Amino acid sequence: METLSTLAYLVSAVCFIMALRGLSGPDTAQKGVTFGIAGMAIAIVTTLLMVESWSLIIFGVVIGGAIGTVIAKKIDMTDLPQLVAAFHSLVGLAAVFVAAAAFYNPESFGIGLPGDIHTSSLIEMSLGLAIGAITFTGSVIAFGKLQGIVSGKPVTYPSQHAINAGLGGLMIFLIFMLCATQSVFFFWTLVLLAFLLGVLIIIPIGGADMPVIVSMLNSYSGWAAAGIGFTLQNNLLIITGALVGASGAILSYIMCKAMNRSFISVILGGFGGEQASGATDHGDRQAKIGSAEDAAFIMRNASKVIIVPGYGMAVAQAQHVVKELADTLKAEGVEVSYAIHPVAGRMPGHMNVLLAEANVPYEDVHELEDINRDFAQADVAYVIGANDITNPAAKNDSSSPIYGMPVLDVERAKTVLFVKRSMGSGYAGIDNPLFYADNTYMLLDDAKKMTENIVKSFE
Ligand code: NDP
Repeated sequence: METLSTLAYLVSAVCFIMALRGLSGPDTAQKGVTFGIAGMAIAIVTTLLMVESWSLIIFGVVIGGAIGTVIAKKIDMTDLPQLVAAFHSLVGLAAVFVAAAAFYNPESFGIGLPGDIHTSSLIEMSLGLAIGAITFTGSVIAFGKLQGIVSGKPVTYPSQHAINAGLGGLMIFLIFMLCATQSVFFFWTLVLLAFLLGVLIIIPIGGADMPVIVSMLNSYSGWAAAGIGFTLQNNLLIITGALVGASGAILSYIMCKAMNRSFISVILGGFGGEQASGATDHGDRQAKIGSAEDAAFIMRNASKVIIVPGYGMAVAQAQHVVKELADTLKAEGVEVSYAIHPVAGRMPGHMNVLLAEANVPYEDVHELEDINRDFAQADVAYVIGANDITNPAAKNDSSSPIYGMPVLDVERAKTVLFVKRSMGSGYAGIDNPLFYADNTYMLLDDAKKMTENIVKSFE
């Protein structure tokens, strides 16, 4: 039976690897999801066949499944990042609970007797415990920031890296003491310190840098799951945890590169010392306010239009009417493409998902580095519900909190049409000087309504 289950777990692990491979591109994503489902189905069936009593498991699945179904049905697409953060916190907490259960009842886990737990098991357990506890409080703070319960601004204080590193060092000492003494005191002190470190790692990160946190916590939750896998002696959990941990770390690295942030600095907690800049001085300049008819006129006379979607398009669920606008323009002989910023919206790949849902052809969708130079040849940049990802302060204002983040060069288009509801700021909470530029028209309305009106104006 054990050989069979090991073999089934191996097949399942291969399915997960194929799933990750498939999910790396839009053409193969569906195949990737199928592999993921198959891998998970094999894993669940194999695990169920290995346990003696199903009653507790069924009880847990019914309760968890019911809560999960209600949340999945209720949650808005725009609230997904905080949901992901909340779920990551549960993985972290599960790791803490499993470690506590194993510590107090080692016989049931086959890792020794109370007070006489095998050292290797203690090391695995304490690592899972520490990473799990950091993941728990870190995810709770990230959830609070993304939900707006906790201030989204970076909280910085002197010597924060040194304090975090010191706490990390202290935790290693506690792990050593726990292994040497098996004392309850060291177990719970380690938990408390890890809880504290989780908070301290996340509070210095805020504003436009939050996307990195979502992927970083994803990675932490993977390592916490791998830790549980060691304690439960479940090879598949170790493999899947490591896959999630590694892929989350790779995604964090890609996000850091996209945002021009230091990966090491993120892992240690915070980007260090960034201050929110004050309001931009626009002098006497007034923004030009346009209408749907103006926009339709300008776009009809264009030969190249680049659509720049952002968070507001997701809020308004305007992706279908944006596709309709693009089709209308194409029918008029206008060349249309879409520019995607890596942190547009509120989760990695947010815009790609929405555009795919609206059946926008993949070949029309381009990443920042591929399309940025095309703005200079574009007649119109149609910026729909996007703000921070176009803000030139990232290029020319060293005091700006988003300084250094690559942005879409929409201002190089002949005309920039900004669709949003007000002159207000975006997620990073900073002014966008582009609203007052000579070649910008502000189309102040809900993204869906404004785009519908533009399409109507074409008729
Ligand atoms: P922003 O948050 O910068 O701007 C979105 C704009 O959309 C707002 O200024 C808002 O202006 C407008 N808006 C909101 N609702 C509507 C609506 N119904 N109709 C029209 N406009 C609307 O979004 P961007 O996509 O430009 O940038 C993403 C930001 O989010 C970055 O700072 C990024 O770092 C951060 N972030 C990204 C994550 C990710 O993983 N992608 C995760 C967490 C944060 P108004 O209120 O005036 O309408």
